[in-house]
Amino acid sequence: MNKEAAGGSSRIPGFHNWSVEQRIDRVASFAGLGPAERAQLAAPSNIDAQLAEHMVENFVTTIAIPVGIATNLRVDGRDVLVPMATEESSVIAAVGNSARQCHDTGGFTTSTSGTEMIAQVQLLDIPDPRRARLLILERQDEIAEICNACDPVLVRLGGGFRSLEVRLVDTPVGTMVITHIIVDTRDAMGANSVNTMAERLAPDLARWTGGTALLRILSNLADRRLVRARATWTCAAIGGEKVRDAMVAAYHFADNDPYRAATHNKGIMNGVSAVVLATGNDTRAVESGAHAFAAHTGRYRSLSTWEVTADGDLAGTIELPLAVGLVGGAVKIHPTARALLAIMQVATAEQLARIIAAVGLAQNFGAMKALATEGIQKGHMSLHAQNIAFAAGAAGDEVAIVSRRIIEQQTINEEAAGRVLAELRKR
Ligand code: NAD
Repeated sequence: MNKEAAGGSSRIPGFHNWSVEQRIDRVASFAGLGPAERAQLAAPSNIDAQLAEHMVENFVTTIAIPVGIATNLRVDGRDVLVPMATEESSVIAAVGNSARQCHDTGGFTTSTSGTEMIAQVQLLDIPDPRRARLLILERQDEIAEICNACDPVLVRLGGGFRSLEVRLVDTPVGTMVITHIIVDTRDAMGANSVNTMAERLAPDLARWTGGTALLRILSNLADRRLVRARATWTCAAIGGEKVRDAMVAAYHFADNDPYRAATHNKGIMNGVSAVVLATGNDTRAVESGAHAFAAHTGRYRSLSTWEVTADGDLAGTIELPLAVGLVGGAVKIHPTARALLAIMQVATAEQLARIIAAVGLAQNFGAMKALATEGIQKGHMSLHAQNIAFAAGAAGDEVAIVSRRIIEQQTINEEAAGRVLAELRKR
């Protein structure tokens, strides 16, 4: 990366009107990308079949998902351009619009609880589980040595075993002794690292306690890897008190009704998962962690909070587990993921997670504002109508004409698009 060329403002007015080539040029100069990374971006779906065959079993082909750039984000005082991989229209525009509305008041401020992951070892058939719990806790130093010996690279990088928890879980088939090994996995998502440790340790735990070791796997409820973001939107920027208060009411609806919370949090994950996917990280791991965390009080609730500040502005916060890495899994080997990661100019997994949390909050702001005012359909309509026009067979200039006409007619469906297309072609 050419560090000298890197940097600049993420505020790029009219970015959506530029050609794809112009956009790539701007992103490449913003992030100081080299020619190889630039070429990678300019070749959609560019992944070698041999590499893909090594990534999954029974490989036959790849499926291309569009990647767009969210503009206007300022995270912890630094402007960033954020790549988002998503098949859903309006998601990227919503992040850019929401971030624009708080860019001048400082953007997003973030923090994290660290990069610790939890691996669980399940022990069964223990008649004296309380005693077994203490037997395990007494061996913390020995356990640390066994775990750290599994991953000297991680230890050299400042990570490795951190602490131990032993929980007794009562179930209909008896009390289980569940050992949590807590490991700092630094810039790795860490599943493989901690799973290896859990598997290595399990026979010792069984021997010490007289129990039977069964499952040995990480927990995706990564609540020692929490990331938080907050931002304030001025009352004027969002269109006045009425909009502000409607958004706060929308939040309380979500926080108190799981039917609404599921959709509210899905909107947050529209942003979160898109960046996770673009960077080759594990979307399922992040999603299960987020939803499990949303229920950590015993009730499924909103991942974000919204309140009115003393100045009458709107303050949003978000807190969720984000187990993402810069090494391991597909992150390091997928060439497009690497080029997209380079756009964000992050040096640590923690920095990546902070940006992702900010995107989640921006996405939530956009969805709530739309829902509390004009409704979600208006913003969706233009790209949605274009998708319908495509589905009906329109190509080239026909797409814009057909989509415009079905919006005017207020009949946005494939049948109507087909009719308009047929008339257009008759002429
Ligand atoms: P990994 O094992 O490929 O890479 C991690 C290793 O990289 C570390 O153990 C360390 O030895 C090394 N490393 C080099 N530089 C490092 C740095 N700066 N910081 C930390 N480690 C560094 O991958 P992983 O992150 O352990 O596992 C991630 C993969 O596991 C993902 O592909 C995920 O999909 C998959 N997975 C997930 C689950 C789950 O979420 N339930 C279960 C199994 C596997």
